[in-house]
Amino acid sequence: MRIEKITEKNTDKKHIKKVFALAGDIIKKGGLVAFPTETVYGLGADALNQDAAAKIYGVKGRPSDNPLIVHVADFEGLEKIIKEIPWQAEKLAEKFWPGPLTMIMNKADIVPKTTSGGLNTVAVRMPSNKIALELIRASGGYIAAPSANTSGKPSPTRAEHVVQDLSGKIDLLIDGGDVGIGIESTIIDLTSSKPTILRPGAITQKMLCDVIGEVEIDEALIKSDSNTVPKAPGMKYRHYAPKADITVVEGKKEDVVKYINRKIEGLLQKFYKEEDGQQEDVFEDIFHLNIVEDRIGILCSQETIDLYPYGYAKSVGHYDREEEIARNLYAVLRDFDKTNVEIIFSESFYTPNMGAAIMNRLLKAAGHKIIHLEKEDVQ
Ligand code: AMP
Ligand code: MG
Repeated sequence: MRIEKITEKNTDKKHIKKVFALAGDIIKKGGLVAFPTETVYGLGADALNQDAAAKIYGVKGRPSDNPLIVHVADFEGLEKIIKEIPWQAEKLAEKFWPGPLTMIMNKADIVPKTTSGGLNTVAVRMPSNKIALELIRASGGYIAAPSANTSGKPSPTRAEHVVQDLSGKIDLLIDGGDVGIGIESTIIDLTSSKPTILRPGAITQKMLCDVIGEVEIDEALIKSDSNTVPKAPGMKYRHYAPKADITVVEGKKEDVVKYINRKIEGLLQKFYKEEDGQQEDVFEDIFHLNIVEDRIGILCSQETIDLYPYGYAKSVGHYDREEEIARNLYAVLRDFDKTNVEIIFSESFYTPNMGAAIMNRLLKAAGHKIIHLEKEDVQ
């Protein structure tokens, strides 16, 4: 796999032009190019070429009923691929495009069913990342791109994540540095009787309502632990998952810390007994304490990280900087994969705007295992 770096500092225009010509050529010929967007890295193919789109499913190990998002570089591009553009699409595009908003509309025949996962609708987005826009233009205008990870793994927010998952499987990776948002786009379905959010993201329900009036949320997102099937096919799969088993703990911050610490102390004793039944107490055996401690992870905030005396704690950022939490979440989940951690306790991050999106991804990573402390005995 070829890797080409394009960063703000790299102002070699000749080189940059060459990279886009090469990348555009690969996509036009039916190949695969991974590239940065403002949300996560995407794995791009020609959206109107069914064989090229099919390759994406193969390389990612993605179920064939999980449709791809088509990326365009201008609003006019929609006319060719959509049956009839709804008025809401025009208003929302005016306000949020280019940006992290994907809209689902009825597709024109030119969009192959491979791209739309067999559906008569298609998801479309105009990214704001300059590299992504330039690549779309160089490739003929329509790039189908899901996140550039192996299906089921956390989405890639850094070029190195793409290398970890797809090295040797794709033609080119454009390394544009770390992404800005770190969580996939908001998806809104404009084909249902009321516009409906199928996946929460950086563009919130309130922001959408302010532009087009009433906007619903797919009930499967709210009752996420129920058996309701989500309307976005991809949302039904366990996603974003690290190797370790995650339990999210929700409640007052001090209660959460106390609860996690108590659970960890119990687990350390248990692991220790499994390894060396002779000794009485792991806390008196520092050597073994260090070893069994490595098996427990804590996903926490910068404010609370020092409150965990045992286990491997990793911070996703400050509670009052939600963009930071969104940007770091997937990288932290991937970092845990490189350790010996088997069990992770995670704090919850119901922040004011990005909270719905952050918690949606975290709960999916945890397979919806959550402890609500208000309902539990914290002592
Ligand atoms: P990804 O690109 O990997 O972030 O995933 C794209 C998401 O968009 C998946 O959850 C898909 O199920 C969803 N999606 C794409 N197209 C459609 C569509 N036509 N109808 C409903 N959901 C869609
Ligand atoms: Mg994905």
